[in-house]
Amino acid sequence: MKNGFRKRLFAGVLAAAFCCIMNGNGMMAAAETVSAQGTSDQGKAAYDYMVLVNKAHKLLDDWESNVVLKEAVNKWGETHLVEEKALEQFLKLQKECADEGIIIELDSTTRSVARQQELWDDWTIEKGEDYVKKYVAVPGYSEHHTGLAIDVCLEKDGRRIDDNDEMIAEKEIFAKVHEKLAKYGFILRYLDGKEAETGYSYEPWHFRYIDNPEIAKEIMDQGITLEEYLGETD
Ligand SMILES: [Zn+2]
Repeated sequence: MKNGFRKRLFAGVLAAAFCCIMNGNGMMAAAETVSAQGTSDQGKAAYDYMVLVNKAHKLLDDWESNVVLKEAVNKWGETHLVEEKALEQFLKLQKECADEGIIIELDSTTRSVARQQELWDDWTIEKGEDYVKKYVAVPGYSEHHTGLAIDVCLEKDGRRIDDNDEMIAEKEIFAKVHEKLAKYGFILRYLDGKEAETGYSYEPWHFRYIDNPEIAKEIMDQGITLEEYLGETD
């Protein structure tokens, strides 16, 4: 017994030694996995899923370097970047909708501050400063910088619906999708009749991930905005 144990122990030590010496890549891969999880955990601690970004609240300076984004491709082959947990939960929401015959897809997701600045500059050249100030979000002040905002579009009878007015007209479909948002940690961000608080008109397609189904349910059930929930309505 004792000898057998020692043999196995020796074999184990030897195998471990070989792993270190011979399998350098394997060790690296293992180490990378751990640090990737570490980054993720640090990421979770480093950013607040309840963060408020609106026309009066600028994105935190270190946000973009901390947020963990994952890539997703929608059914039309368009690539999107979304915060990792928001994407994971969105895919579950999307599946539950699909099971009921409702097709929602990623339409507009994360835009970096740098990209928004480019858009701002391009449009200024093309349309002038007055137009830009009215219609283009100021770089640094769009919720889409956070990675936590997802604009969806619909597919109905094989046709993509992404026009704002057409989507607003799809009241029944969106009512069914909105009912499911809180379960996956999302809220509807720009409510009808709350333009004064959010700074935006009604957008049934703009979902915001807050990583907390209970708070999301509270916000959705009360029909309040994130500004109201956080007491930031001035
Ligand atoms: Zn949006």
